[in-house]
Amino acid sequence: MSLRLTNTLGGKVEELAPLEPGHVRMYSCGPTVYGPSHVGNFRAFLLGDLVKRYLEWSGYRVTWVMNITDVDDRIIRDLAAAGETLDELTAPHIARFLKDLGDLRIGPPTVLSRATEHIPEMAELVQTLIEKGHAYRADDGSIFFRISTWPAYGTLARLDPQQARVGERVAADDYGKDDARDFALWKGPKAGEPSWDTVVGPGRPGWHVECSAMSMAHLGPSFDIHSGGVDLVFPHHEDEIAQSEAATGQPFVGTWLHCAHLQMAGSKMARSVGNIERVSSLLERGVSARALRYVLIAVHYRAALNYADASLTAAGSAIERLDALFAALAAYREDRPDDPRLADLMAGTRTGFEAALDDDLNIAPALAVLFDFIREVNRRIDARTLSTADAGIVTSFLHDLDRVLGIGPDSVEEGLAPDLELLLEARAAARTARNWAESDRLRDELAQHGIVVEDTRDGQRWRRAD
Ligand SMILES: [Zn+2]
Repeated sequence: MSLRLTNTLGGKVEELAPLEPGHVRMYSCGPTVYGPSHVGNFRAFLLGDLVKRYLEWSGYRVTWVMNITDVDDRIIRDLAAAGETLDELTAPHIARFLKDLGDLRIGPPTVLSRATEHIPEMAELVQTLIEKGHAYRADDGSIFFRISTWPAYGTLARLDPQQARVGERVAADDYGKDDARDFALWKGPKAGEPSWDTVVGPGRPGWHVECSAMSMAHLGPSFDIHSGGVDLVFPHHEDEIAQSEAATGQPFVGTWLHCAHLQMAGSKMARSVGNIERVSSLLERGVSARALRYVLIAVHYRAALNYADASLTAAGSAIERLDALFAALAAYREDRPDDPRLADLMAGTRTGFEAALDDDLNIAPALAVLFDFIREVNRRIDARTLSTADAGIVTSFLHDLDRVLGIGPDSVEEGLAPDLELLLEARAAARTARNWAESDRLRDELAQHGIVVEDTRDGQRWRRAD
């Protein structure tokens, strides 16, 4: 495998070389649960999902961690207004987020990490930064990272360190710091705000330190990929690098992966702009989740994606073509020799698909290769040049490519129930042992469960009975 990705750190396209051979460790900045996530947020989560799926398809083991920020300034602002506990306020948003993840067939991540469950790790990280002289305490118990101790600050975002953090964001973090550029690691306790008693005293974590502590808790001090929306490059990810590397003395992340904004009527989709569209409301209006997934992955992650109803319609018809082919293959019966050129067609498709995705997840040519294949198979179905066994082989091949894309019909995602899987394995073993009576008996038993088994040159294939 030679997946090349655009690393925001340095701005070059680089080959991914996992620190541990065969195992990629990735962290994606997840939602802040003070309201429902919108479609724009899910574009960034789908980038992580595509990386994970593609790496797994390429034979890698992937540990994918995503955080759920369930305490931060905005949540606390809403908390005061709502008169609820932190859990009461965030629980419905977390449930909705998990539902949306499932509907869009994202992950699930190997670990979904909640900020409020990692407060001790965050406090310990802050403590280490104090001990190493990178952080200081203000009168109200807040603790700041001292940027003047970290000359590399601004490398990711390519900022002049002297200029960094001058502007509107300063006020939000301003609890009495020495330098306007310094950022809050820890916020001192305030009446009416949630507070934890920790090694650095009472209070609550700053947002940036949450991601550093949670990623390192699950993935170690150095890991391979960190992803998020492009708006997180500065200050969030810049701050993550500074505080993590200052604490551990080790490089934090190999590849920083950022996805461009989703545009809605010419401006970034954002709660603050007020032009958001939610996954759940789209689905309630009858939009297919698979079409929505298709729209959100079909444009290269670094290109701005213009969200419009027109793209949903186009995605819907692409998905219909895929479904129609699956249906045609399932119904196809032709007692004739196998198509001698089918193997070459599939090999060429696979090579083209892989070459496109290896090239910085270049999704458009990968989808073009898939739809060229679909067109060619439809031609062969019409010309009846495929055998019944060929149709099964093509179905399996499409299922395999769809492990990366996740846009196929529902049955693609559903494997066999474990008990039926065992029957299928037993039948394969019986055939290897040339025990035809047992093989036939197992075929009948599977048929009683609605599973049709066919024997091909490549072994047995199964499909659900019509
Ligand atoms: Zn983050």
